[in-house]
Amino acid sequence: MIKENVKKIMSELPKGVLLVAAAKTRTSEEILEAIEAGVQIIGENYVQEAEKAFGIIGNRAKWHMIGHLQTNKTKKAVRIFDMIETIDSVKIAKAIDKECKKLGKVMPVLIEVNSAEESQKAGVMPDDVISFIKDISHLENIKIEGLMTMGPFVDDPEELRPYFRRTKELFEKIRDMDIPNVEMKYLSMGMSDSYRVAIEEGANMVRIGTKIFGPRH
Ligand SMILES: *Cc1c(COP(=O)(O)O)cnc(C)c1O
Repeated sequence: MIKENVKKIMSELPKGVLLVAAAKTRTSEEILEAIEAGVQIIGENYVQEAEKAFGIIGNRAKWHMIGHLQTNKTKKAVRIFDMIETIDSVKIAKAIDKECKKLGKVMPVLIEVNSAEESQKAGVMPDDVISFIKDISHLENIKIEGLMTMGPFVDDPEELRPYFRRTKELFEKIRDMDIPNVEMKYLSMGMSDSYRVAIEEGANMVRIGTKIFGPRH
C-alpha cells in the first residue's frame, strides 16, 4: 500500500515540488518501503525516533527535522539531519551553529513561520521574520534556505489558503532583499489534506504522512 501511495502522489506532484515523507510513529520497515518507491527525503519530528531510523536506513535518504527541536538535542540532531525546517528562536539557531562548527558542517535551515499568529504555536510571527533572519544570518554554520509553515488546524483545507499565500508573499519579499547568507529556495507548506492548496499557493516542498503511510496508530 505504501508503495502505491508514494507512486500516486509522486506522479501527481508538479515538477520541482519536493516530497518529504513525514514519518513520525512509523517503523523503519515502513520508511524503507517508501524509499524503495521513490521517496528521497524523510521528515522526522523527534530526534530519538530519527536516531533509531537513521541507524538502520542511514544515507539511503535525506533527513529533515520537521518537529520542534530542543536545545539539549542539537548535538545529536546535527549529526543526523540534512536540513532543519523549524528554526524559530535565536537560541536554537545559535545552538545548531555551535554544534555544526565542531563538525565542520553547514546546516541548511528553514525559518518556521507562525502564519496564523496563534499564541500557543511554534514559529516566528510573520511581522518579525525579517528582523529575525537578519539577527541570525551572520551565523556561519547555518544557511537560511527558505520558510516553512503549518497553518492552523481547520476542517477544510481551503481555509489554509490565506496563510499559505501570506507565507509565500513573505518568502518573495525576503528573496528580493538579497540578504547575505540567505537564499530563499524552499517553501515548505502543505500536508496530506492541504498539499494541493499549498502547491497552488507556491509551495515547492510538501510534508506528507498519512497519505503515504495510512492513519497513525
Ligand atoms: C505529521 C506532520 C506532517 C504530515 O501530516 P499528515 O497530515 O499525516 O500528512 C507534516 N508536517 C509536520 C510538521 C508534521 O508534524
